[in-house]
Formats: sequence, C-alpha cells, structure tokens
Amino acid sequence: MPWKVNIGKDCGLVQVTVSSKDTYLPNASTIGYDKRDARVGDWVVYQNNPDMSEEADHGRVLGQIIEHSNDQVDIKGYLVVLYVNDTLSHAHIRYVNPKNVTRCTSVNTKFVEFLLGLHINEKTVQQLPRLSQEGWLCDRAYERAIEKLYVKCEEHGMFQADGKNITCPVCGGKATNG
Ligand SMILES: [Zn+2]
Repeated sequence: MPWKVNIGKDCGLVQVTVSSKDTYLPNASTIGYDKRDARVGDWVVYQNNPDMSEEADHGRVLGQIIEHSNDQVDIKGYLVVLYVNDTLSHAHIRYVNPKNVTRCTSVNTKFVEFLLGLHINEKTVQQLPRLSQEGWLCDRAYERAIEKLYVKCEEHGMFQADGKNITCPVCGGKATNG
C-alpha cells in the first residue's frame, strides 16, 4: 500500500505519496553486484546535481514517489531516500532523481551491524588484517570473520572475544574460538 510522508525541502514541506515498487535507474552501474532496479531497502549512491560535478551522497531506498504536492519541480517517479552522511552521524529523508543514481546494491544489514558494532580490542586488532587480506570482511562471507572474532562457551553461546583472555563473561569458564 502506498503511504504519505512530508519531505523537507529548503522552502518548506512537500507531501508525497510513496509506493514500494521498484525504480529503474537508467545511469546506474551494472558492474559486479550493482543493479539498475532500486528496491526498498537498497543502498544507492547518487549525485545531487544533474551535471554530476559534486561529491556523491548515499543512503537507503524507502520507495518511489507516485504523487506529490511540489508545484515547482515534478518529482513524480523520484526515489525517497534515507540519506546518511559520510561520517555516519546523521540521516534525513530526501528525494532523488533516479537519473542521478550511479550505483545501487542490496544491503546485508547483518554485515553492516557486524562491521559497525565491532568492539575494537586486542584480539580484534590482531585478527582484522588477516581477515581483510583473506577476503572475509565482505557481506557475502563475513560469517567466517565472526567465527574468528567471537568465542563460544558451550553453555552460554557466542560473544565477542575480549583481548587475549578467552573466558566466558557469564560463567568465567574457558571458551573456545568459533
Ligand atoms: Zn559460560
């Protein structure tokens, strides 16, 4: 079902009706896992100016505008994007012309969670260079990285290793890698 939302744009709010249907991206890359059909939840990289002269922005696709109240620009067919800034400290909703999207990929949210939630400690720092070199820090292979960076207590399950000391934080017993 389409839903309505107000999107802020310099001079005021624009009310848009958003559909969750896929959006075709005529100028997006098709190299590797990149794709030309943006689906809800996907990650897109886009330019703000049509001449593509500025630095790219990025964010997650929320849907496609099928109706709007903007009387200055026709934004029908545009993507609604949850923009995230470069330092991952801020996000807000924007509309983006599909023609300005240069890349689109699906997102493995579990990998992002793993990567950004990683506790940096002695063990992690020692393992990361090798995991990186061997290609395990990838959204299609990171389970192996988890095995290396986490330890397991038979009784209490997996938890992130804390330095060299491999003991279970719950029972204090010996834990094993992966
Ligand atoms: Zn335990």
